[in-house]
Amino acid sequence: MLQALYDGKIEAFRKQFLKLHPYDRAKFYVEQSPEVRKRMYEYLSPAEMAEIFDHLDIEEDEYKIYLSEMDPLFVAQMLAHMYADNAADVLNELDKKEVANYLTIMDDEAAKDIQGLLHYKEYTAGSIMTTEYIAIHANQTVRSAMQILKREAANAETIYYLYVVNEQRQLVGVLSLRELLTSDDDAMICDVMNDRVVSVFVDEDQEEVARKMQNYDFLALPVVDMNNHLLGIITVDDIVDVISEEATDDYSKLAGVPDVDIQYTP
Ligand code: ATP
Ligand code: MG
Repeated sequence: MLQALYDGKIEAFRKQFLKLHPYDRAKFYVEQSPEVRKRMYEYLSPAEMAEIFDHLDIEEDEYKIYLSEMDPLFVAQMLAHMYADNAADVLNELDKKEVANYLTIMDDEAAKDIQGLLHYKEYTAGSIMTTEYIAIHANQTVRSAMQILKREAANAETIYYLYVVNEQRQLVGVLSLRELLTSDDDAMICDVMNDRVVSVFVDEDQEEVARKMQNYDFLALPVVDMNNHLLGIITVDDIVDVISEEATDDYSKLAGVPDVDIQYTP
């Protein structure tokens, strides 16, 4: 794969590279020299780079280095293709001026999604939620909800749960994909949804979110404001990161060392 990359065999490289799981693509990417990485930006599309960045596990200050290697328009397009929560995480590491610059050249809808996530306090539910969820209405049929699902599926972080909202966008119910698929096409959503929804408040601590997710065994939790307006969702993969961060914190305290990232074998 590397050889194809060095030799400039674009198609051969792409064929091998894109077969890898995005996590392995991300691993490959960070192992390369800046020169090789620059070649990757030429051979891959912003959407393909976005998949890599959605799976990057790097120190916060490293984002700056990688982004500075790319053309600003490429960065903006890549950020727009990332999940909004991940893109906001990246932007939170940059200077305000840079952030404003990327948001201006990005398409409006993506910029709005990301912007909405930029200002939540660190370690709160809001800071780890994403706005890419599937919302349906109580007074529609299963059939029409299915059409919404089909239309929105590609852009949602998870399609496993559909959240039911009213006209004011307040959260009134939830339905799992399995429940939707096994319901009669003509049934009304209000008759098949669960109306006792477990949710978290936007400024709740992320550790509390992790606890709720573990206790209830859901794959995602909805995030609401004080008036029960649906703001976003938190998926279990983001919670796994919180739990491992927490373990590192606790380990640091136990060992009496400063709170730095530590590699250890549990
Ligand atoms: P599976 O067989 O894959 O588990 P499922 O339909 O049982 O499918 P679960 O993820 O186990 O899906 O969800 C269990 C139940 O909890 C479903 O009825 C689902 O609608 C409901 N549910 C999901 N999220 C919430 C939530 N935030 N609050 C309340 N109920 C929820
Ligand atoms: Mg179940």
